[in-house]
Amino acid sequence: MNDPLIMGIVNVTPDSFSDGGAFHTPDEAVSHALRLVEAGADIIDVGGESTRPGYTPLDADDELLRILAVVMALTSRGICVSVDTRHEETARVALDAGATYINRIFHLYDAQGDIAAIDPGFGYVDTYEEDLALWASLDELARGEYPLMVGVSRKRFVGRISGIADPVDRDEASAQLALAAVLHGASIVRVHNVVLTKHYLDTFAESPNIIAYIALGSNLGDRDGYLKRAVEHINALPATSVVAQSRVIETAAQYVTEQPDFLNAVIRVQTKLPLFAFFTELQAIEVVMGRVKEYDKGPRTIDLDLLIYGDSTYTTPELTVPHPLMHERDFVMRPLEEVILS
Ligand code: AMP
Repeated sequence: MNDPLIMGIVNVTPDSFSDGGAFHTPDEAVSHALRLVEAGADIIDVGGESTRPGYTPLDADDELLRILAVVMALTSRGICVSVDTRHEETARVALDAGATYINRIFHLYDAQGDIAAIDPGFGYVDTYEEDLALWASLDELARGEYPLMVGVSRKRFVGRISGIADPVDRDEASAQLALAAVLHGASIVRVHNVVLTKHYLDTFAESPNIIAYIALGSNLGDRDGYLKRAVEHINALPATSVVAQSRVIETAAQYVTEQPDFLNAVIRVQTKLPLFAFFTELQAIEVVMGRVKEYDKGPRTIDLDLLIYGDSTYTTPELTVPHPLMHERDFVMRPLEEVILS
């Protein structure tokens, strides 16, 4: 694992989506920033303008009124500050006040205006599938010319993965995804909860291997090829290996019966990725393998269901483990029994 930088988020806004504007006075924001530094943040990202849906746009003057005192209080203490702004004037004044970086959607810039990190912009695309496609491109982005910054903390994407409605309750899932982003090569992770993120990063090396079971299905195109490629994708995930595989069986579609027959298999996997990170990876693999959901339980190039993840239980519509329907699915239970006994 590379040695990532943790960027702690400080929103000096009365209407931020993610923390309810808890730090909207400069004093509160500075105290919060100092706590984040104490917890291990390497950079503090100060923002004055919330960009949640339906946010109130701010002009540069009002934005500066909110953030300048905070930026100065932090830079005068030698803290590395980035300023999250879309205004040129705010950026200029913040740099004069000692800020090191300017954070714009998609890129982090240094004082010379050069790109210091690229940010794939999670949450600034329209759909969950597009966020997943970005996630699937992290390895490639990390291999590019610029250091990669990943910011998913408390975002809708994390809400969709975890089924957690309130952004402030998404820190555990956010920290798990920050760890996974680092394993994909991210150099900077932008987070609200520095303590939890640091915990996941620091304990990763000693974290146990979890045994997970995944059901694979395909009933479109080169079905066997899709299953094989899905196994390859899973085996290529960070800190993950496929350790056993059932035979491939052919089954008639169970729920919507007017569709082609499926090929099904189950694999056993060993992974150090925590649950939400592992599930994100599976969902991203479905997207990169061209899965298009025309309708529920309809034909698909690839379907990956997480059946069992260690002894974890978790229940939201977006993610339930153990998989709630596996016992009624013969096409899952037969290969699962085979692979468990193997
Ligand atoms: P399906 O189209 O039947 O594969 O259902 C996929 C949806 O079920 C996804 O949107 C997931 O968020 C949700 N889901 C809930 N629990 C699981 C699980 N254990 N494995 C895979 N998908 C799950």
